[in-house]
Amino acid sequence: MPLKAKCKECGADIEIPDDALPGEIVSCPDCGLEYEIVSISAGKVELKLAEDIGEDWGE
Ligand SMILES: [Zn+2]
Repeated sequence: MPLKAKCKECGADIEIPDDALPGEIVSCPDCGLEYEIVSISAGKVELKLAEDIGEDWGE
């Protein structure tokens, strides 16, 4: 059974693959917001927003 997490922004369910590892990036299917997986334990996943990784993406 895949893990799910709720998007903090829009409340959509984000599916976390069974083989996901801490440090991987997942994105919300609805709003596209990106989260980094902080930790995964049995049945529970903790995410943090990935947007603080850097802002060098702009023009
Ligand atoms: Zn979202």
